[in-house]
Amino acid sequence: MSQFGTNFCDNFVKARYEDGAWQAPELVPLEPLQMHPASHVFHYASTCFEGFKAYRWSDGKARVFRLADHATRMQGSARSLCLPVPDVELLSDMVLQLVSRQVEDIPAPPSSLYLRPTLIGTLPNIGAAAAPSTEALLFVLASPVGDYFAGGSRPLKLLVDDKRARTTEQLGSTKTGGNYAAALGPTLAARAEFGVDQVLFCPDGDVQETGAANFLLISDDEIITKPLDTSFLHGMTRASILSLGRDLGYTISERNFTVGDLLAWAPDYEAALSGTAACLTAVGTLVHNGEEHTVRDGKTGPNTERLRKALQDVQYGLAPDPHGWLTEV
Ligand SMILES: *Cc1c(COP(=O)(O)O)cnc(C)c1O
Repeated sequence: MSQFGTNFCDNFVKARYEDGAWQAPELVPLEPLQMHPASHVFHYASTCFEGFKAYRWSDGKARVFRLADHATRMQGSARSLCLPVPDVELLSDMVLQLVSRQVEDIPAPPSSLYLRPTLIGTLPNIGAAAAPSTEALLFVLASPVGDYFAGGSRPLKLLVDDKRARTTEQLGSTKTGGNYAAALGPTLAARAEFGVDQVLFCPDGDVQETGAANFLLISDDEIITKPLDTSFLHGMTRASILSLGRDLGYTISERNFTVGDLLAWAPDYEAALSGTAACLTAVGTLVHNGEEHTVRDGKTGPNTERLRKALQDVQYGLAPDPHGWLTEV
């Protein structure tokens, strides 16, 4: 299968916000967008998105993972950017329409259909730097994606940066393009200088997250991760792993911890990144002040594997869905 994010279904769905109301969504062949060059998004970055997956079970029907929760998170992002806020029902209906049209294109697990709702400010006004976009476009792309771990998963190497923040306190939990723009330079520099995969942003020593994934420490009986605050993105994978971990008897420790704590725990804990694209991926090495610290034995740990499998079994229809996370299409 082609590289993640480069292969799209033949249709997409879009809805405009104009004259103070959302207009009826349209499911149409995928096509370029016609936009005024003065559109608010191009100049003032009024944009947010979501990312989640639909799986096609062996019964041939599709199931969307945590649809309402993702729609609710998008509402929060829209609100924080002063964009028109789509109803959960509107966005959910758009996603379900699209998935139902493309169900034949969804490859069997562990492959899936990645869904990418995107909301942009389209008001053509370059004088609106300090004004909200009163016109907007919401669209949803669908992209068949393969198994992230095809070819085997190699534990990741992270640069622990105890100075820089990924983004600002104000936009940390907003899924908005500017945050990725902010993390890109530091991440490329860290790759070039230290050969790492990602940067773990830990401003003032506070362990937060990487450019696009949450960070967890896992032992045989405990999962440690930062408690929800506005400094980082509230991942649905993070929340799901914590719920399933609790069900499996792990103590869930949502607590702040420092780079000092992290390096002290690294010999005994497994470390992992969580996110929709890669589910749960082991971290094998931390680089801090030019020194390499191996996390446990540097390999993917048994608890990371166990929790990843527990979540994927629910998503693939191989285990019950006790939390009601899946919407049948
Ligand atoms: C999307 C994202 C995550 C992961 O969220 P999921 O809902 O688990 O996919 C984590 N951090 C950032 C910065 C993100 O953009």
